This record gives sequence, structure tokens and C-alpha cells, in this order.
Amino acid sequence: MKLRFCTVPVTLLLLVFWINPTPASAHFFPNITSIPASLIPNTTIWDAFNALDGCRKGVKADGLAKLKKYFQLFGYLNNSYDNFSDDFDDYLEKAIRTYQLNFNLYATGELDAPTLKHIVLPRCGNPDVVNGTSTMRSGKPSNRYSANSTIHTVAHYSFFPNRPRWPPGRTRLTYAFLPENQLSDVVKGVFARAFERWSEVTPLTFTETSSFYGADLRIGFFSGDHGDGEPFDGVLGTLAHAFSPPAGRFHLDGDENWVIDGDFLNSSPMSAVDLESVAVHEIGHLLGLGHSSVEDAIMYPTISSGTRKVELANDDIMGIQELYGSNPSYNGSDPTLTPRTEWDTSGAPRVDYLLWRRGILLVVELFSLLLFV
Ligand SMILES: [Zn+2]
Ligand SMILES: [Zn+2]
Repeated sequence: MKLRFCTVPVTLLLLVFWINPTPASAHFFPNITSIPASLIPNTTIWDAFNALDGCRKGVKADGLAKLKKYFQLFGYLNNSYDNFSDDFDDYLEKAIRTYQLNFNLYATGELDAPTLKHIVLPRCGNPDVVNGTSTMRSGKPSNRYSANSTIHTVAHYSFFPNRPRWPPGRTRLTYAFLPENQLSDVVKGVFARAFERWSEVTPLTFTETSSFYGADLRIGFFSGDHGDGEPFDGVLGTLAHAFSPPAGRFHLDGDENWVIDGDFLNSSPMSAVDLESVAVHEIGHLLGLGHSSVEDAIMYPTISSGTRKVELANDDIMGIQELYGSNPSYNGSDPTLTPRTEWDTSGAPRVDYLLWRRGILLVVELFSLLLFV
């Protein structure tokens, strides 16, 4: 959810959207070898951050101001923070530490090589920290986390603030593509497959409609500034973003080299981005999921270019089923994963406890019934 966006009156938003849609004629390639060399950049927007290796609190270095903007973009620095100097201050150190916790890195608060390697990865444009609260690992009780455990792993899925979801009576959602993008049936088929991943595990269904502004979910490719305050940045960097329910907006960066048949076994060039992988992730946002610290999860914020990740992880499935319940024909389960609700400290109802209490009441009622018969 883009909270800054949501504070603006809806009518004004619609006006902006109509005036300045800037749809992109996006690049699609059947496979990675069909991308022409001229479209493969030598560097991308965040590569320059690699020069900041070794920077720590107290130093001044060219590029730290840009890095602060990066951290503000993803919620790690408050929106009121405006000290975009090249000084490494306390706020930047705190932002880096939070980022490191979220991405399962050593929380050194310094720009070490593993942290920078992660910072430059292409990623989703949705923030990891909303209104100062991280929904990822750094915002969770650390003593229950066991990232490397194969025996018992705590789930790390998250929701947007106030847990917005599509209402219970609306399980049949429609989606449409921005007409100006003129997408081929093959490209549309990629999105259909991505929707299918989520409908397999929930009672939700997704049907394409030709009415763009009448659809629940609206998909469009855009370049640069496209009127919602979250401009795209060219090849790599941010790849896409999507809004929480019931906004239904799903925007993709038209400047990426989108690959529609993601056979990435010998991944080169590295600027290729698998469309289906990104679509599955962003649909998670459209349905109400936030980012997860579980690296295998679809809702993990970064994806290495030249890789494909389309299978929902148990973390994703447990998250989406907490919002919508399961698809009656879905049998999958993972007994090694503890539902997040077991240790949720947010004040939200503890689903497992409620179910347990309901079970006890049922047994008591049955017992009373037997006594009277
Ligand atoms: Zn995301
Ligand atoms: Zn957008």
C-alpha cells in the first residue's frame, strides 16, 4: 500500500491517472537469447552503490545522499527525513541495520560487501517498512526466528497495515490490461498463469475482462513517472509495484527486458527479468500480502535478474490462507511451519487460539447433549 498515495482524495487521483498515464510500449522477449545487445546496459541505477563498500558511521562519501534516498524509497528512512547529504549519520546506520535484519544479513549497521550485494539487486517497488513499522523480520520477535532450521521455521509472511483484503463476498475477481499496452495473448497468458498460482490455494478466482476501468485488478506497463508518485527507473532497479486491496492497481516498468518464457538455466544477459516471477509476487500485494523475510518466498522483495521463481512457498500459502482460507481442493500443508498468528504481537486475533477455543466449546456442547439424551 502506498500510504502517501492513499492520503490524496480519490477524485484527484483519478484525474492524475487520466491526465498522465504514460503507458509504455514494453519490451517482451520469448527467451533470454532474443534480447538485442543494444538493450543491455553496462550499468544500472544502483550499481554505483558498490563504491560505498566499507562506509560506516562518521564518514562522508560521494553517493551516500543517493543511498539515503534509496532507503527512504523503501521505508527505511522516515518521509520527514530530508538530510540527503553524503554524511553517514545515525539515521542511516539505523536504516542499514533494519535492512540487514529484514534480509537475514549480519546487522552491522555498516555498508559491508554482503549488504551492498543485496542493495543493488532488482526488486519490488513496494516499501518494506510502512509508517516506520517493518512488517519483515526486523519488526518481529527475533528469538523465535530460525532461518536455517529445516526442522521448524517460523512463518514470516506479512500484511499491509490494518490487514486490508478483498471482502468475503467477493471471491470472483476480474482483471484487465491497460488497452494502450496492446499486449499479445502470449503475454496475457503469463499473467493468467500467475493468477492461477494464487487461486490454486485460495477460494479466489480471477477472470480477464476487457473493461479496464471496471475491473477489480488493473495491470499496466509504464515508463518513468506515471502519475502515482512512484516513478519507474529504467532497466533493473525497481521492476514493478502494486497496491493493497481494494485499490487493485498493478504497474510494471515498461523499460525492463521482460522475458516471457523464463528458461534461465544459463542466465545471460543478467538484465533479463522473468515476467511470471514478478507477476506472481505483485499479485500477492493485490490480494493483501506484504513482504516476507523468507528468501524462498514469492513475497521476498528482491529477485536476482536472470532467475525464475514462480512457485508459492509455504510461507506465501500460509499468509494468503490466513486472509482468505484455503481452496477446498487444496491439500497441501507443511507441519514444520508455525503460523505467524501463534506469536503475533500486533493485537490482531490469534486465529489458532480462536480455533482451539472453538474446538473446546464444541466438545463441551457435545458432552452436554449426550448427558441430556
Ligand atoms: Zn513487493
Ligand atoms: Zn505506479
